Amino acid sequence: MPNTPPKANSRKHWKDPRRLYSWTKCRNKYKEQFYCCQRCQYLGTVDRLSYENLSIHHIERVFEAPHKVLDWSNLLTVCKACKIHFDTMERQGYTEQAKQEGWEIKGQ
Ligand SMILES: [Zn+2]
Repeated sequence: MPNTPPKANSRKHWKDPRRLYSWTKCRNKYKEQFYCCQRCQYLGTVDRLSYENLSIHHIERVFEAPHKVLDWSNLLTVCKACKIHFDTMERQGYTEQAKQEGWEIKGQ
């Protein structure tokens, strides 16, 4: 199969920095330090689930700000529910609000 170049506006257009080994290391280190959902902490809704199924959310999305992919000031540990919250906001086009909320949580 020929290696056709991706469309200019596709997310695959640039090499996804999340695939880098350095991202895996960065994510693990960040999770070690922030092992509880930071949004649940901010909202005061910490419960058992705030410590489980954690992922790392990029406040400024990776495709918008690839240079911030490893920048701790751009990262938030989120539980499954909070990840869905951010994903839904972004899918519905509330990307600026999602960023604002992320920065508020970070205290920036
Ligand atoms: Zn949460």
